[in-house]
Amino acid sequence: MSQTKNIYQIMRTGQINVQTENIFPIIKKFLYSDHEIFLRELVSNAVDATQKLKFLSTNGEFKGELGELKVEVILDATEKTLTIRDRGIGMSEAEIDKYINQIAFSGAEEFLQQYKGQEGAEQIIGHFGLGFYSAFMVAEKVQIRTLARHDGAKAVQWESNGSPEFTITEIEKEDRGTDIILYISEDSKEFLEKARISEILNKYCKFLPTPVFFGTKTEYVDDANGEKDDKGNVKRVAVEVPNQINNPNPAWTKAPIDLKDEDYSAFYHELYPSTFESPLFHIHLNVDYPFNLTGILYFPKIKENVEIQRNKINLYSNQVFITDSVAEIVPEFLTLLHGVIDSPDIPLNVSRSYLQSDGNVKKISAHITKKVADKLADMFKKDRKDFEEKWDDLQIFVQYGSLSDEKFAEKAKSFALVKNTDGNYYTVEEFKEKIATLQTDKDGKVVCLYTNNPDEQFSFVKKAKDRGYEVLNLDGPLVPHWISKMEQSVENLTFVRVDSDTLDKLIKKDEELPSKLTKEDEESLKPLFENVINKDKFHIQFESMSADDAPIVITQPEFIRRMMEQQKMGGGGFFGAFPETYNMVVNGNHSKISDVLAAKTEKTKTAKIKQLTDLALLSQGMLKGEALSQFIDRSIELV
Ligand code: ADP
Repeated sequence: MSQTKNIYQIMRTGQINVQTENIFPIIKKFLYSDHEIFLRELVSNAVDATQKLKFLSTNGEFKGELGELKVEVILDATEKTLTIRDRGIGMSEAEIDKYINQIAFSGAEEFLQQYKGQEGAEQIIGHFGLGFYSAFMVAEKVQIRTLARHDGAKAVQWESNGSPEFTITEIEKEDRGTDIILYISEDSKEFLEKARISEILNKYCKFLPTPVFFGTKTEYVDDANGEKDDKGNVKRVAVEVPNQINNPNPAWTKAPIDLKDEDYSAFYHELYPSTFESPLFHIHLNVDYPFNLTGILYFPKIKENVEIQRNKINLYSNQVFITDSVAEIVPEFLTLLHGVIDSPDIPLNVSRSYLQSDGNVKKISAHITKKVADKLADMFKKDRKDFEEKWDDLQIFVQYGSLSDEKFAEKAKSFALVKNTDGNYYTVEEFKEKIATLQTDKDGKVVCLYTNNPDEQFSFVKKAKDRGYEVLNLDGPLVPHWISKMEQSVENLTFVRVDSDTLDKLIKKDEELPSKLTKEDEESLKPLFENVINKDKFHIQFESMSADDAPIVITQPEFIRRMMEQQKMGGGGFFGAFPETYNMVVNGNHSKISDVLAAKTEKTKTAKIKQLTDLALLSQGMLKGEALSQFIDRSIELV
């Protein structure tokens, strides 16, 4: 055939049609931070070309054999090339002209002004159809060798070295489809490393819808045997069998009815190969109106250290990985979830601030929040026992959501739980109703008693329960904030920690016990107490409690403790460093206090007081170091 002779003969040269002097310096400069995405762009173009061919075949426009539809990435470290090969629709010369040579770069000047000096590849890539041209971030020369799908199509090669000039040549190519060959430039040598390419493919291409293979080809010299070249070495070429690197049918693209729990859990581990824990449960998102969105969100078991678990949601657009930073798309509390969101409707090529104000993104965000709340409500309704078993792991998430999103908070009322010290769970409303009779104070407020540490606060919990009160076990970093929120949103409800006051004062009733101590007694005792304790830290108070209560109780007022907790969480506020103070409450009706009063000398009185205050401190784990050792010595002598 005479055509064979034409191979590599230049058919024509031309100028890439851009309305600015030279686009390549712009590409290199603006896209500096994120060179690796060239591979995402080229592989997804190859996948698109393949998908288009499939489509044309289904609708009858393409009548030929499809063959094995795959995309290959071939690394040749010797030739310093990276080839992206597909068996898709290919391009005719006219199509190259239309899609490659005419860069739709309208408004280029305006665009340049807007983004001058800004970092961020995402803003430009794709926005003006620059996907293919991102190849020039890493290549000094790029060839497109392509054979279009049409009967009798002629294969052509387009080549450019990064200047706006290109050359088109007629070539011989048997297979339909396109090879994009990048001659990797000196300063981008990292992209000739197998491990680096694997890493990029694994990041961006793991779930592309067409099988993607990656292989390497190396030439090496072996002088053991065989034919020699002119330098006397034997040349060999090692071609690695390409491996498929992607799963073209990830779980989120399937229908929920076709998936079992094991499939969801297997997919979780496919997404996070280095995570051993399994998620608690999942939500399969599937929306097609008013926007397109699919995905699977997983609820992890949330640990105290929330930050490490954040930002694990991956954002995809038609199965192409875009980013794992979804902070602009979902409300902050949802970033605690793991999983995948795939939406072609999220604008990917604009700045982050724009994204936040985008109407579609707002709708998506609200939709996901609603779905998550609905799922939790549904789980609670369908299988309350199972939900209760998961509650301890869900608590932070639900509290976080309630604190940051009003709509979520509203829905959460039906499933946000509290647990009592016997391990029973109630919604806040249920609990309020349950305790209303016994635990309503004289002002009509229903008082929820809680402990954050049933061991440390054992004696307080016991006393309260002996009186028939319920005590909640509320522990977690967000509990102090969540409690305040409940007090604001539920009428006549208040929370106090069991050790924040004496039992009678925790829930103030009308009746008051008469005290055995007179005002004079109290005044004579007070200085004696103040002599044996640190009076900046402990405030002495006399109260008429039941004779069965302890002689001395140490409490910390609820508001002081909350202040300190919030200070610890980084909300110091205007109080600055808040001093740690306690109340030392003396039970005026206790027989031991009467004994102190009856003692003859001040010395005996002081000794008795010392022993009683030490016992009170001891019972709360507050007697430490030297004071503890002195107490022990003294107690031994007493024996
Ligand atoms: P975009 O993909 O955003 O349209 P690109 O610059 O990446 O922008 O590609 C421009 C056009 O070139 C594509 O829309 C497609 O028509 C064509 N093209 C690119 N790569 C291929 C390929 N591998 N096979 C067929 N056509 C391609």
